Amino acid sequence: MGLIVQKFGGTSVASAERIKAAAKRITDTYKAGNKVIVVVSARGETTDELINLAYELTDSPSKRELDVLMSTGEQISIALVAMAIHALGYPAVSFTGGQVGIITDSYHTKARIKNINADRIQKELDTGTIVIVAGFQGIDANENITTLGRGGSDTTAVALAAIMKAERCDIFTDVDGIYTADPRKVPLARKLDKISYDEILELASLGAQVMHSRSIEFAKKYNVPLFVRSSFNDNEGTLICKEVKEMEDIVVSGAAVSKDDAKITIRAVPDVPGQAAKIFHEIAKRNINVDMIIQNASIEGRADVTFTVPRNDLQLALDTVERLKEELGAGEVLYDSKIAKLSVVGIGMRSHCGVAEKMFRVLADEKINIQMISTSEIKISCVIDDAHADRALRVVHTAFGLDKVVKEKEEEKVVHV
Ligand code: ADP
Ligand code: ASP
Ligand code: MG
Repeated sequence: MGLIVQKFGGTSVASAERIKAAAKRITDTYKAGNKVIVVVSARGETTDELINLAYELTDSPSKRELDVLMSTGEQISIALVAMAIHALGYPAVSFTGGQVGIITDSYHTKARIKNINADRIQKELDTGTIVIVAGFQGIDANENITTLGRGGSDTTAVALAAIMKAERCDIFTDVDGIYTADPRKVPLARKLDKISYDEILELASLGAQVMHSRSIEFAKKYNVPLFVRSSFNDNEGTLICKEVKEMEDIVVSGAAVSKDDAKITIRAVPDVPGQAAKIFHEIAKRNINVDMIIQNASIEGRADVTFTVPRNDLQLALDTVERLKEELGAGEVLYDSKIAKLSVVGIGMRSHCGVAEKMFRVLADEKINIQMISTSEIKISCVIDDAHADRALRVVHTAFGLDKVVKEKEEEKVVHV
């Protein structure tokens, strides 16, 4: 008898009807002879509503209390899903993250899972009960409630699948699978049958919010096969798995754009050893993730240092560098939060050249200025003005041949007539 983890996102449990449909899927899997762990997100827009409510009271809500607040969304869902399963005549029990021993660090609103004590889940599974777990949450060593960052229910699901050695983890969402780009932004995006852990990891951390990127790190590390599929239909979905040889033939498999970053420039930093170490030590101490970094060639012994940080952390990062400015002997600090990061990803880039050149050419033809560039073995990212973000995504998507083949079919029709 296999163990399957099923995760249902917010839209998939948004109404009583949707919850009943989820319960039906869960019990069908259970009836087929499987043990089932279910992870659910907060219903519909609940998490956004809770956050908005907090900001109606104060501009700077305590992160600890935000976690207490946000975690309630998932708690509502687990009880409702358990009730819907009971109504179909099957045994189910719901638990919060803390109740099933999901232990995280103490970084409120972006905590990372450290450890899961799975005894309680195992005990319930052994009695033939379907276990429903609240996604996106855990507790820290002092039993404070923590949350895992927006979209974090995926990570709860994959971490549980990994620790419980599940056969697979199904992610039920509101799209048919992983597409070559966000289908909401690129109507011609194409569904992929398969994608490697590395590619989706890059895409997820570069703006394809379809999967929480930390969930893919777990899936890759523990080799958990992931299926992303729609909770609205029975279409095939996308398999996320280890890379196989044929994947290398595809140079670019996806594109994404994110507006989650902001850019900070520290002008005229004295060009002597240890300055970058000082800046990024202070930033790291505050648990701020720096993505791109550029240092200009120095002029008269001084250089500008520019880097990007998550927009949410901009104020904290600015306060940090402002305080450091004097110690560094640097000039003014500038920032820009109206930037977007446009990226293309593909493991075929390792063995093909010309991808960067093509991306720069397409943006140049569109008169879109590139402010920063970063590359890895399998991705190229450009920072651009966020006003051009979605247009840039569409033109790059087309240029790399990612569009659906709608045109060809139309042409075929013409030929036949
Ligand atoms: P859930 O609530 O089920 O976790 P999310 O809203 O987090 O759902 O993720 C699904 C959404 O991700 C889709 O509606 C889609 O707009 C968006 N998305 C972004 N990039 C992609 C992509 N490359 N493929 C599919 N969906 C994507
Ligand atoms: N409810 C949380 C969010 O909206 C977690 C999730 O949906 O995965 O971010
Ligand atoms: Mg999600």
